[in-house]
Amino acid sequence: MTGKKYLFTPGPTPVPPEVLAATAEPIVHHRSPDFRPIYERCLARLREVCRTERDVLLFTASGTGAFESAVANLVSPGDPHLVVSCGNFGERWAAMTAAYGADVDHLRYAWGETPDPEDVRARLRERVAKAVWVVHSETSTGVVSDLQPLAAAAKEAGALIVVDAVSSLGAVRCETDAWGLDVVVSGSQKALMTPPGLGICAVSEAALAATGTSPRYYFDWERTRKAQAKLDAAFTPSVSLVAGLDVALGLLLEEGLEAAFDRHVRLGRAARAGAKAMGLELFSPDEDRSAVVTAIRAPEGVDAGDVVKGLRDRFAMTIAGGQGELKGKIFRLGHIGWFDVFDITTMLAAVELVLTDLGADVERGVAVTAALEAYERAPVA
Ligand code: PLP
Repeated sequence: MTGKKYLFTPGPTPVPPEVLAATAEPIVHHRSPDFRPIYERCLARLREVCRTERDVLLFTASGTGAFESAVANLVSPGDPHLVVSCGNFGERWAAMTAAYGADVDHLRYAWGETPDPEDVRARLRERVAKAVWVVHSETSTGVVSDLQPLAAAAKEAGALIVVDAVSSLGAVRCETDAWGLDVVVSGSQKALMTPPGLGICAVSEAALAATGTSPRYYFDWERTRKAQAKLDAAFTPSVSLVAGLDVALGLLLEEGLEAAFDRHVRLGRAARAGAKAMGLELFSPDEDRSAVVTAIRAPEGVDAGDVVKGLRDRFAMTIAGGQGELKGKIFRLGHIGWFDVFDITTMLAAVELVLTDLGADVERGVAVTAALEAYERAPVA
């Protein structure tokens, strides 16, 4: 049908109409009384979503920009840092910290593995680190790490813990204060149901006190923190995106964070159950924590890129392919943010048709039922 499109990637994600409407409001001046209440409410809602009493810094930048703020503020040349990676984004942070001159100890897992807190503990016994850098939800593989024990391992060794929660914040539990997370980075275009363009960085007192000597200006935490405290943004923010994010966070908090976490667990269950019923092999872990994106291996003889292309050409449906070494091998179904179970059944039905087109031997007509049943089944613990 002309004009009907489906966005089923793990970011950017579909944006609710109320949020789109807010972004389409006439532009207001960022230092005027038209903007300040929106800014204030948005920052307060961000603290609620991050579950922190501390400052949440808001940058007009993508998630990588917000992450770079953490690197620029915490890394001084020659500092020892431990970067834990198990996929594309962890590797990006290893490269970025190294680019700022950090002496990087890279605890590198194969793509698709889940980091083990005991390994972090062992590495920190061998070598001190100023900070441990971890990815909560590794979007390239679908692995969601068990964040609390990873943070505990860093804390025990006296290191700061910096978390990439770009694709998890608002979808999977991330207790900034209760788990002692020093820095939590996210972006507007994932589970926060807002267009791309805002980067979020929750920062602890300890992290603010540990800033180093790398050159920085736009991303200087202290400059942004002071400006936000007066509701007088340091630079011109994307006022339209802040207005949209404010509405989106309102929707999320109205649903309730616990209900949203529960919904995401069920969406993940539904996607995995449907894929398995079709006879497909999961690449992402078959566990409740894996609630952000379901990564599926392309069946024997099928290039995953052709599945992505087939969905786009036949149904105007965008899903994600594999990144880096997983290109052509997996395809990924995103389910964060403004998603319900019928988004899952729609994508499963389309995947089934496209795989059949491509000559794959899949079980027809069972995925949707399996997904619906998995969504409804046993309560989330
Ligand atoms: N980290 C993770 C886990 C992501 O999924 C992404 C985006 O795909 C990023 C970082 C980078 O964010 P952005 O593309 O907003 O710069």
